[in-house]
This record gives sequence, structure tokens and C-alpha cells, in this order.
Amino acid sequence: MRGVVMYAPGDVRVEDREKPTITRPTDAVIRIAATCICGSDLWPYRGANEVDHDPMGHEYVGIVEEIGADVKTVNVGDFVVGSFMASDNTCEICRAGYQSRCVHVVPMGRFGTQAEYSLIPHADGTLVATPGQPDADLIPSLLAASDVLGTGWFAAVAAEVGPGKTVAVVGDGAVGLLGVLAARELGAERIIAMSRHADRQALAREFGATDIVEERGDEGVARIKELTNGLGAHSVIEAVGTQESMMQAIRATRPGGHVGYVGVSHDVALPGEELFFSGVHLHGGPAPVRRFLPELIQLIWDRRIDPGRVFDLTLPLEDAAEGYRAMDERRATKVLLTV
Ligand SMILES: [Zn+2]
Repeated sequence: MRGVVMYAPGDVRVEDREKPTITRPTDAVIRIAATCICGSDLWPYRGANEVDHDPMGHEYVGIVEEIGADVKTVNVGDFVVGSFMASDNTCEICRAGYQSRCVHVVPMGRFGTQAEYSLIPHADGTLVATPGQPDADLIPSLLAASDVLGTGWFAAVAAEVGPGKTVAVVGDGAVGLLGVLAARELGAERIIAMSRHADRQALAREFGATDIVEERGDEGVARIKELTNGLGAHSVIEAVGTQESMMQAIRATRPGGHVGYVGVSHDVALPGEELFFSGVHLHGGPAPVRRFLPELIQLIWDRRIDPGRVFDLTLPLEDAAEGYRAMDERRATKVLLTV
């Protein structure tokens, strides 16, 4: 099968890889219908994480090709969506809703879903079948549910977004934009998107942003305070993962408010004394996307949300290297790869 391999930072190739086969009775193999490039794939691409001939990709939708003897909830031929973390969905941590930290978790990045097929461990726990075969125009939105929508949704839930609340969103990548959409769906009264890019501002407004703040850092925090009677937002979504963005999120939150942080943390160090006196709640981490998949798939199926709008470039799998370049150079917010 064909699949994406990152040889080294900046060096992405599509080559022949071994087609996966069932190794355990709880596995499935799916034929991937669409996959995509994640903002987190840019960390190794830019040399911020180690990479050495690694298969790439952890987002996927597709059709079940083969199931192991113990798989009961999905069948061959089902169209399925799964999380970027495979989980049994039965352990104590999963049952509490934290499937991305399942005691048997398997990161899907290990298999590299930017490929024609993927192994899915814990198929019963990981995969959710759609109500039928989706229309082609629903596939981008279903793919978004696999990571960026589920992650933005978790960030909003972790930030305790709800009716009557003011929400600020730090980060205008796909996750931040879908955090805006989640905040709207969860009933936020006011949603402030922090973005400097006109095209992303426009999409944020389409997803429900009521205000845009272009400033960053201390100036960005000052603008959020101005917009909230000097108090800060009730709920802040952090979707970047840098020191600046994390501190911007904490400082933009009012005492007693909540930060939902989902940007993969890179060298973030929190100052204890400032955190102590801030009086904010912090909750985040790798999003337990599986918790939200049934609800998100239904919202997409019913055409109530259109998260697939975050994909602004679609390329064939063979052109993955161009997709990485486009995201690295910010010519694209998120790239869908057709398989
Ligand atoms: Zn588990």
C-alpha cells in the first residue's frame, strides 16, 4: 500500500509500505477513505520533535476491511470514524470519559494513517460506525471529528463553556476554530476569537465568533479584559501549546474561570505564584475524542454542524509533501488527503 513517511524534518515522501494485517482478535483493518495533516505533524516537520523515517498521520475515516474474531460492534463494510488514540473503552479511565489516557491506549500515529489502510487496535472501543454510508460531502466533517473537532469540543467542555458565558479562544488553527464552533453549540453568549489572519477570522465568525481580537500576548490579554468589564473571560480555550499562548490563556481568564488547554505543550513552564493567585481552573491534555464521537457524528449526520469547513486544501495522498509545505507556510489551515 502507499503511505506517507517522514524521513527527517522537512523531508516527506509517499512510498510503498506493508499493508497491515490483524494481529490480535480485537483488531480491525480499515481501508482509509480520507486522512489529513495535523498541526501537530508540523512539530517534527520543523525539527521541534525527533523524526526518523516515521510513518505519519493519526486522523482517519474509512471502511472496515477485516475484523478480528472478538470484534463485535463494527462489521466489514461499515463506514467508521475513530479517535487518534485507540482505547478499549472499558477500563476505569475510559468509563470516566478519558479514553485518550486508557490504560491500554495505543497512539494511532504509531501506524501512520496517512496511508491506504490502517490497523485499528481495540476496534470495539476505538471505532464508531456512522448510521450508513455517508454522502461524499459529509466525509470532511466526519474526518474532522477524528481529531480537530473532538479536540476543540473537549477544550470547550474542559473550559466549562455554557449558556451566558464569555469564551475566548487562543489559537486560530483548525482546533481553535472548531473550539469556536463547540462554544456556540454549547450555548456560549459571547465568543472572542484571537486571530490575525483574515481568512481564519472569517471562518471563526461563520462558526459563531462574536468578536475578533488581533493582539497577542499582554496586549491580547488587555483587549480581552477591555471586552469583559476588566474581569477576563469565564472560559478560555488554549489551542497552541506555547509558553506565550498558555500564559495568554491563563491571564485572559477571570478568577474562578476555566482554561481548557489542548495545544500540545512544548516547553511550557507555569509560574507557581502567578498561577496560585490567578484562581483559575486548568484542565486539558490529549482530548478524549472517543467520548464525544457518537454525539458529534450525529450532529454531522443531521447536517447541524459543518466542521469540514476547516479543510481549505484537498490533495491526493501522493501529493502529501505539498500538503505539508502548504501548512508549514500557512498557505493552508488544514489539508485533507484523499485516498
Ligand atoms: Zn480504557
